[in-house]
Amino acid sequence: MATGVQGEAAALSEEIAELRHAIHAEPEIGLDLPKTQYKVLAALAGLPLEVSTGQALSSVTAVLRGGKPGKTVLLRGDMDALPVTERTGLPYASSIKGAMHACGHDLHTAMLVGAARLLSARQAELPGNVIFMFQPGEEGNGGARLMIDEGVLDAAGGRPVAAYALHVASSLLPLGLSASKAGAVMAAADTLHVTVKGQGGHGAQPHHAADPIPAACEIVLALQTMVTRRFDVFDPVVLTVGTFHAGTTDNVIPDNAAFVATVRTFSAQSRDKVKDAAVELTRQIAAAHGLEAEVEFVDGYPVTANAEAEFDFAKQTIGEIFGDHRFVTAPNPLTGSEDFSYVIEQVPGAFIMVGACPPGIDPFTAPYNHSAEAVFDDGVITDGIELFSELALRRLAASS
Ligand SMILES: [Zn+2]
Ligand SMILES: [Zn+2]
Repeated sequence: MATGVQGEAAALSEEIAELRHAIHAEPEIGLDLPKTQYKVLAALAGLPLEVSTGQALSSVTAVLRGGKPGKTVLLRGDMDALPVTERTGLPYASSIKGAMHACGHDLHTAMLVGAARLLSARQAELPGNVIFMFQPGEEGNGGARLMIDEGVLDAAGGRPVAAYALHVASSLLPLGLSASKAGAVMAAADTLHVTVKGQGGHGAQPHHAADPIPAACEIVLALQTMVTRRFDVFDPVVLTVGTFHAGTTDNVIPDNAAFVATVRTFSAQSRDKVKDAAVELTRQIAAAHGLEAEVEFVDGYPVTANAEAEFDFAKQTIGEIFGDHRFVTAPNPLTGSEDFSYVIEQVPGAFIMVGACPPGIDPFTAPYNHSAEAVFDDGVITDGIELFSELALRRLAASS
């Protein structure tokens, strides 16, 4: 039988799986997750933690003060579900139509509770503090930003020296394999809104109107040329126009043509540059045709960038506790985005993907995170509790 942290994590796994199933069956979306918050608070009750809850969102911040003085480390688990109707057929599947833990955040929450229990039992020997950050609203609401505004990073007094988050994957990684990389690991995701303003008229008399459609089409194509001609291929930009709307019928020139694009970047430099370049290009093409363009960039999440030293530390920890074969350095970032980025903009940290594809299913054809059929296996729970706990224990024990 396993001993030490691994044995303690294994001993907690059944209870944590039950908590996970309860959260999974009752998913909540967005910033206000009262039932999930209640389950977390109940599961933490009686532990030697300083627990506080959020104002702008139903967050839970729990601080464990170790018996010995030292640094502070932050561990984060997000708690929100997605507006998806579950089709997994699992016994603990969502009981709520239109809501599903399709990104595995139920596992993050439950595993973080497990780590809080395990580390609480070791409070006396702990050389420093641990902040457990239970966060609503990861899926587009920027809950991490709100928790930072409400003081999560200062919850233990001094700033944490490091912050870690785990994210389960239902596909691509087999159960038990972790992956991440130094530097950018997830993209920044911003939104470009363009309205080309013309002058409506008769389709047979375009010279008496100012047609916005050809100019808007030209801008869409020019934006694609821009990302290939003005950006380093090794610091790429992905720009996808996902909506394009203009007009009502064939013989009427409309007043306006509008489109919206998602813009993904992997460095702060490219992110800043694409904002300026896209606005300039759009306005000038419109102007070349005697039209005006309204252009607006709406900021989404910034690049999730792992600090090199914290990535190395997490990789080494996984190698030592599970074996080197259980970690793969990802060749590229993922083009999704993640609001843990706000935390590791301010505190050096690492975001680690953890394979949770059910055994016997090919990870390369398994349904992706966010799919109504995505299944995340309970087999990840013991490892998740152990990894969260070991990252905190070893980082607090480290000399710097
Ligand atoms: Zn997600
Ligand atoms: Zn997620």
